[in-house]
Amino acid sequence: MTATLPLPALHASHGGCWLRDGAGQTRGCGKGEAIVSAADTPLLMLNAPLVASRLGYPDLSGLDLLELFAFVHPARFMVPTPKGLAHALDLAEPDGDEHVPALLQQAAETLLAQCQAPNWPAREGAWTALQSLIRLRWSWAPLLTARIVAPEKGESWLFARLPEWEDVAERPQPAQVMLTPEAVAAQLARLTGSTAENRPTQVAYAQEAAQAFAPRTREGQPHLLLAQAGTGTGKTLGYLAPASLWAQQSGGTVWVSTFTKALQRQLRQESRRAWGDAGSDRRSDGSPPVVVRKGRENYLCLLNLEDALQGGFTGRAAILAQLVARWAAYSQDGDMIGGDLPGWLPTLFRQRGIKALTDQRGECVYAGCPHYRKCFIERAVRASAGADLVIANHALVMVNAARGRDTAQRPTRIVFDEGHHVFEAADSTFAAALTGSETIELRRWVIGPERGSKGRRRGLAARLADLASYDEAGGKAIAAACRAAEALPGDGWLQRLAEGTPSGPLEELLAAVRATVYARDESGGQEAGYGLETEAAQLDGPLIERAGAAQAALAELRGPMIRLGVRIEAVLAEPPDWLDGPGRARLEGARHALGWRIDTVAAWEALLDRLGGPADPQFVDWLAVERAEAREFDVGLHRRWLDPMQPFAKVVLEGAHGAMLTSATLKDGNDWDSAVVRSGAPALGIAPRLSSFDSPFDYATQAEVLIVTDVPKGDVAALAGAYGRLIESAGGGALGLFTAIRRLRAVHGRIADRLARGGLPLYAQHVDPIDTGTLVDIFRDDPRASLLGTDALRDGVDVPGHSLRLVVMEQVPWPKPSILHRARRLAGGGSAYDDRIIRARLAQAFGRLIRSSNDRGHFVVLSAAFPSRLLSAFPPGTPVTRLTLDQALQHVAASVSHTSAKQESDI
Ligand code: SF4
Repeated sequence: MTATLPLPALHASHGGCWLRDGAGQTRGCGKGEAIVSAADTPLLMLNAPLVASRLGYPDLSGLDLLELFAFVHPARFMVPTPKGLAHALDLAEPDGDEHVPALLQQAAETLLAQCQAPNWPAREGAWTALQSLIRLRWSWAPLLTARIVAPEKGESWLFARLPEWEDVAERPQPAQVMLTPEAVAAQLARLTGSTAENRPTQVAYAQEAAQAFAPRTREGQPHLLLAQAGTGTGKTLGYLAPASLWAQQSGGTVWVSTFTKALQRQLRQESRRAWGDAGSDRRSDGSPPVVVRKGRENYLCLLNLEDALQGGFTGRAAILAQLVARWAAYSQDGDMIGGDLPGWLPTLFRQRGIKALTDQRGECVYAGCPHYRKCFIERAVRASAGADLVIANHALVMVNAARGRDTAQRPTRIVFDEGHHVFEAADSTFAAALTGSETIELRRWVIGPERGSKGRRRGLAARLADLASYDEAGGKAIAAACRAAEALPGDGWLQRLAEGTPSGPLEELLAAVRATVYARDESGGQEAGYGLETEAAQLDGPLIERAGAAQAALAELRGPMIRLGVRIEAVLAEPPDWLDGPGRARLEGARHALGWRIDTVAAWEALLDRLGGPADPQFVDWLAVERAEAREFDVGLHRRWLDPMQPFAKVVLEGAHGAMLTSATLKDGNDWDSAVVRSGAPALGIAPRLSSFDSPFDYATQAEVLIVTDVPKGDVAALAGAYGRLIESAGGGALGLFTAIRRLRAVHGRIADRLARGGLPLYAQHVDPIDTGTLVDIFRDDPRASLLGTDALRDGVDVPGHSLRLVVMEQVPWPKPSILHRARRLAGGGSAYDDRIIRARLAQAFGRLIRSSNDRGHFVVLSAAFPSRLLSAFPPGTPVTRLTLDQALQHVAASVSHTSAKQESDI
């Protein structure tokens, strides 16, 4: 029998609360009693914030098993549910909610006992971390003290233990190679382990993908391939086959870019077939052939961590810093978001401090940093320069092309998987936002934090003190920039705006923007709590005047920034004696960071410049007040390209030799026109190669679309009733998609308890204090669980098998009628433009349902007014039925009993 820790334990779900005492007696209890018990004595619990939200008592705390797990098994994956905990620790799964408290006692003892085991893989550093955690009064510290013995010789400090990266020699340019169809097919067969006859579509796809790697024939005109591949084609290995072959033969690097973290993870797995274990397999020189790269804001910054460990963080945030330090010592790559840091860890600390451990604000001091040679970000950058395959995301590829530090490292052969998202990523990458939060960031970057702030953040003057004392003109430029940055918003700007006491030209402009947005609000208070916006047209005189003053203030700032950039370049060109290698790298880093901030300020000035005059037809400009949960968090002016694929084509495509956009949903039915426009090809005057590969799935028998016609629009009670009954009919395994958070919450609030009492757990984005990636992990892990969510789940969920057998959309996913959407709709053909967007969304959502040839499921839309012209969103052959809710329930239930019967007979 498994040993247990004799401490009281609490479990709370939507189905009720259970308390178990130290003597081993479990009983159900009310929420009030659970709260009182937790206040009296620290209780064992799993995911304290989730338990707190189930009890409706936010201040709840206790001995959270997840925190202990993060300490004992840093960088190890676990689904944060009772079942997931049991699996991770090799314990028996609890058979129902009432058995969970007993599991918590067993799990606690198992984890504590692990610390005494001689083969505990994470022993190194544990004793030292524990000493700090004792000082921080971490609730688990007293229990661990008895289990972790002091090491015989001192443990090395985390920063001494991490390996240093090596400088790599620059790669020669790739050889020009042509991949033959036979060679591509043979490579694919090697990766899949099957013959070409078995997978003719995949072979054809791989051979088509190989076209993107042919030598370029004209400067500025890359080979561009748009390849639609229905779900199940096997496109990942399909393009990895020519990509790996080309990298091998040419000595060059291929970048594969994705939109979702889920696909990045999958690619990391699949690339192992071509290159071996990407994490541990090395080439003979020790370098990795496959590297995952993300934006720098994803990685742990060791300097920020050191600062946090040495007093920069206090209270709970300081405990988080210690657990992150434990993880850092065992992490594969230091990736905090979607990497091996458990996604649930930051939410246990209510996200406090996690962002401050990354380099969010581009304050890196590069070679001036004592941890530079061990820095996770620098290591990833260096490794990718020599890699065969770089797995990145769309935003990083674009940012890298637009303002990468090293032009030699810009991607030239790029596969954009999830290619239907390239437009969206370009839209935000090439946007300009002159808002309070953006401008205060710039102020802090130039001047440094305001008095009283903690941490190591320093302004330009401190970061470039050596340059200032050596080069007089440089020193003057820094001083002038600091003076000019005083015009930018400072701490408390939002408060001052609300009180009508703005300070300085930028705050005055933002106050006028805010007043105009509220004055023009047409929602009649209906949208209370959500963002408001108005077009940047017919603006009144005082606002234009303030825009002029703000523009002048920004120009005052940009001037010295440019002068400083010139001085840094001059010093780099004729280096003084004191400028050693690290100093040089630091100045180069500063020059680079300065460069893109100058561009940002110039873009803000251009935006302000046009406010009084005619609109520039290339752009869409508007004024906005951002709000969430009824609180304002930002105010400002926004600019987007009407067609963001224009800058994308210039910045990313023009410099590339070959690029491919691939997805299951690129074209609209049989129409390629919008896909071509959204590829950026017209901006370069090239005609992309177009190819399409049908899914091998038999949608006629595997799926059914049900359009429910009797749930009245706007009736939340009826909507909730429909969701509840559908989930019950399917026995869970449902993904519910919403277009509005409000309705999602209302539906969840009405049905979660009832479903839980029937043994059907319901999770929801924007309700449960759990990050989206973890929610999907939980959903995947439990076939009886259901998940409600919004946009991010529409195509970020890859759950093959029985766990996902029903997708329910609350209504036709109309695009939000924003100012930006209105402008694009006008330019893109009016209602036909909307229809294309909706069909694409439906196709993506439908794509969640059938992920393998064994999957079966229903796709339900709760909309009487579902137009027939949208039906082409679904794969040909998929049966579509319009019916009442009762009939739909029968269809779903019949299919579930058929599947269960089949499973039983299979067994
Ligand atoms: S080099 Fe930059 S990002 Fe890396 S640890 Fe140092 S300050 Fe942080």
